[in-house]
Amino acid sequence: MMQTIINQLKRHQTFLLASHIHPDGDAIGSVLALGLALKAMGKKVQLFNPSPIPMVYRFLPSVLEIKQTLAPDVRFDVALVLDCGDIDRIGAEAVAICKRSLVINIDHHITNTRFGDLQFIDVNACATAEILYHLIQKLPVQIDCAMATAIYTGILTDTGSFRFSNTNRSAFAICEKMIGLGADPYQVAQHVYGTYSLGRIKLLNLALDSLEISPNGKLSVMTLSQRMLRETGTQAEDIDGIINYARRIEDVKVAALIHELCDNGTAPRGKTRYHVSLRSDSGVDVAKIAAQFGGGGHAEAAGFSIDTTLTDLKKQLMQLSEAFSDACEAV
Ligand code: 5GP
Ligand code: MN
Repeated sequence: MMQTIINQLKRHQTFLLASHIHPDGDAIGSVLALGLALKAMGKKVQLFNPSPIPMVYRFLPSVLEIKQTLAPDVRFDVALVLDCGDIDRIGAEAVAICKRSLVINIDHHITNTRFGDLQFIDVNACATAEILYHLIQKLPVQIDCAMATAIYTGILTDTGSFRFSNTNRSAFAICEKMIGLGADPYQVAQHVYGTYSLGRIKLLNLALDSLEISPNGKLSVMTLSQRMLRETGTQAEDIDGIINYARRIEDVKVAALIHELCDNGTAPRGKTRYHVSLRSDSGVDVAKIAAQFGGGGHAEAAGFSIDTTLTDLKKQLMQLSEAFSDACEAV
């Protein structure tokens, strides 16, 4: 399948590269790495993400080429959808454009719906950037410092700095090569993890204050509202990483972070739209839980969005926690 995709990349001229809403380092790094590689091959590329690029990733070379809007009548030979378990995660605007293109789905999420005309899905890859490294190596281009920095950032962030269970030999081997090609680990770490705005620290304080633990101690829940974001002058991107505090608590098997979304216009009367992030350290498969609610992700990091009330949502999560035992074979 990799070869078929390579043939298509060589054959065609115009490409849309898109990744998921609320992008993380892997979504952004993947789009940049492959986008720059195709550009180096003389192709015409358009990089897209439905959300603004978080401040911490704005240091990446060429990141401003990732646009948040697309001309409605624009056409591309190929649409490359990267790091998305579900095509809807690139937003309606880009989904509409995909209807007129050859769609190539490259991803590492276990819940991938296998959308598109061609797929390359490797659930053992630590990051989509790992898959793209292998792909770019087979293209007639040299990986330059910008591509190396993008790939390094994708792997560093998706493995939680080589701490999560998806950390594999390739993560280290590829990152070592990327450093040889010019990626600067200190610079990347400084940008991604080294500085917090004061608002983000205040938001963390509110999140810690909102912590609730299920009666059996196995589930931790944090809740962040739009009001808290307003009060601290923060954005949705500042929530990234906060859930790890809830996950580290002793005896906790699953951590949930409920985040009230701002696109509440779509929620039915009396309900609010929430995004729920889920994390587990071992045993509980949170991708399965997220899939039950129409979302997806990885066994140990997943999410979903839902129109509901906060009371009902917390009740549902607390009920689920009753199945989290010490062995945690259930769920
Ligand atoms: P988070 O919820 O922290 O944003 O994301 C955790 C993981 O779950 C990421 O790998 C993300 O791509 C995936 N994920 C989060 N929300 C959704 C969703 O609504 N649908 C799908 N398919 N995956 C999701
Ligand atoms: Mn990823």
